[in-house]
Amino acid sequence: MPAAGHRVAGGADASVDRRTLTRPGQELLAFGRELEAAGAAQVGSSFSGDPSADLVLAQPNAFLIGVLFTQGIPAERAWRGPWELRHRLGTLDLDYIAEHPDEVLEAVQRPPMLHRFKNMLPRWIVSAARRLSEEYGGDASNIWPAGAHVGDVIDRLTEFDGIGRKKAVMAAEILVRHFGVALQGRECGQIAYDVQVRRVFMRAGLVAEDNREAMEAAAASICPESPGIVDLPAWIVGRQWCRPTEPDCEQCRLGSVCPRLIHLKVEGVGARPRGAR
Ligand code: SF4
Repeated sequence: MPAAGHRVAGGADASVDRRTLTRPGQELLAFGRELEAAGAAQVGSSFSGDPSADLVLAQPNAFLIGVLFTQGIPAERAWRGPWELRHRLGTLDLDYIAEHPDEVLEAVQRPPMLHRFKNMLPRWIVSAARRLSEEYGGDASNIWPAGAHVGDVIDRLTEFDGIGRKKAVMAAEILVRHFGVALQGRECGQIAYDVQVRRVFMRAGLVAEDNREAMEAAAASICPESPGIVDLPAWIVGRQWCRPTEPDCEQCRLGSVCPRLIHLKVEGVGARPRGAR
């Protein structure tokens, strides 16, 4: 059974404009399938742009800390965070982190600061270390064991300080797409209600209004078996071509099928890159 509170496949409603859904939706889905086949990270083939930093993220605990970083700063910088933190602390050992909050604070705040949330992020990291030790045997992969339902994984992630639904949805998609974690119930996964995704969905005519329910319904219509598959392609389109001003429709992946509703504005557009999840 799907976890409570998560949308089930086929949840499209009247807010989805089916007249314009088909071609942009199909192209977005094709892009998503390409990214999934390639096991894409979050930013193209990489998380941080640095292979060493990306390698650290293969460790589940480091990945979870990376998710905590993904807010309010560019994605590449955020995903580099665990590697930088390990370098500064000398370890990502959970017991050490849990018992040394002042050192974590100093490591994050030491110039150049690792994050703009210089006080909150250290608290989230320490809290996560304690929760991982107390509830997951010190191993974040126990949050997402093979065969777990994606809805349950999202729920568990949102129990961590500093992880809201948007980050949890993103993390679950990455776990499946990039790390190959065999989660069940991908029909209950979703796109993140992210400013880039919202802008693309609006301008491509996939939704008629800017709200989470409409976006999720549209994603479920595009791909009922795994709505989250259109999350990354939409974000890439938004970041690379469908910029808040001067979108590059000619080069855009959706350029040949998009109605190009570029007059549509999305509140908060350009305020935060995906790192802000
Ligand atoms: S850049 Fe242009 S073609 Fe691409 S999604 Fe935005 S409005 Fe559509």
